[in-house]
Amino acid sequence: MTESLGSRPDQQDDAAEQPSPRQPRNGPATVSQIVRSERPDLETAPRIVVTGGAGFLGSWLCDAALDKGYRVVCFDNFATGTNDNIDLLADRPGFEFFEGDVCAGLQVGGPVDIVFHLASPASPPQYLRLPVETLKVGSVGTLNALELARGKKARFLLASTSEVYGDPLEHPQRETYFGNVNPVGPRAVYDEAKRFAEALTVAYRTKYGVDTAIARIFNTFGPRMLGDDGRVVPTFLTQALTNSPLTVFGDGSQTRSICYVTDTIAGLLALAESEIHGPVNIGNPTELTVLQLAERIKEITGSRSSISFVGLPIDDPKVRCPDITLARTELGWEPQVSVDEGLKLAAEWLESTLDLD
Ligand code: NAD
Ligand code: UDP
Repeated sequence: MTESLGSRPDQQDDAAEQPSPRQPRNGPATVSQIVRSERPDLETAPRIVVTGGAGFLGSWLCDAALDKGYRVVCFDNFATGTNDNIDLLADRPGFEFFEGDVCAGLQVGGPVDIVFHLASPASPPQYLRLPVETLKVGSVGTLNALELARGKKARFLLASTSEVYGDPLEHPQRETYFGNVNPVGPRAVYDEAKRFAEALTVAYRTKYGVDTAIARIFNTFGPRMLGDDGRVVPTFLTQALTNSPLTVFGDGSQTRSICYVTDTIAGLLALAESEIHGPVNIGNPTELTVLQLAERIKEITGSRSSISFVGLPIDDPKVRCPDITLARTELGWEPQVSVDEGLKLAAEWLESTLDLD
């Protein structure tokens, strides 16, 4: 951990008017500086804010950051996250949770060293269900998270996405590629929200000198992704584990490159602890067609499922694979968990959540 991540005396705020943790709230959110710690060193440990911390990646990030000795303030409105993820973290020393909408404001008492902005629906069925909320959290929510970082003189990390490349005409995708996005297609609510969020993040760096970083995260999977999440890996795994047909969209020739969650989280932390602004691709360059993925999942789970071909969603990207040269050279980061190993771990976890005979 670098010295610059330590708490600074100029960051001490008055916490007198802050509400208690875990209270549902309306209006602008405020977070207490109280750390109910059993470990005295936690009083001075660097402190991070994670928006979207009740979600899949957010909860893993909170866990990993606590393991590294950070204090963690987690903030979420449960739009797509779950209480189960918070329950996993609730008793850990140095962890605080506040329920609230990041679009309604984000004020945090006490020092903050890094703001990780992850709040946003991320699964296509979820952002199609929440189109305006997705655009709002990418714009207003990002503005509020950046204002928090600006006020606290904290580093800011945006969880952006490979979706900024849209249906890419350059392959694999390097960070220099501008992308190919349909601004009025169904996926635009997510893609354009993230593109706006990236532009706003850069504007806060150039205009206000906020120390910002942008991670472009590629498809990530693992435990805590629920069977009804809607994204391809938990969907196929659940179908395979229940011997139901695997629903391959289109002819399954479209590709994705899937990264196990602990690798993605290590990449986010490495970027946050660096001085790199990015954008930096974080993903596993092992590329598979969706049909190959379905077959691999059937094999790993020993499933008797058939494969059922159904309609391809509009604007579904035909290829996706990260060029991770930048992350390798600048962060010394690359994925450690193979796709097969990761799929086995995700399958074991999902199986434990399913009521199978
Ligand atoms: P997720 O849906 O599991 O988690 C998102 C979290 O944000 C949820 O807990 C949700 O309740 C919360 N949230 C949404 N709107 C909010 C609001 N207005 N105020 C407060 N909280 C709000 O998704 P995830 O897979 O964990 O993704 C996390 C972030 O990483 C997202 O920003 C996503 O765009 C980005 N990302 C994820 C992937 C991936 O493969 N998982 C890939 C690329 C980018
Ligand atoms: N997909 C599929 N069957 C499903 C869910 C998804 O074939 O039940 C495909 C989808 O069309 C896309 C890929 O799997 O080509 C990845 O989809 P996901 O929703 O996980 O994320 P995306 O990368 O599209 O955002």
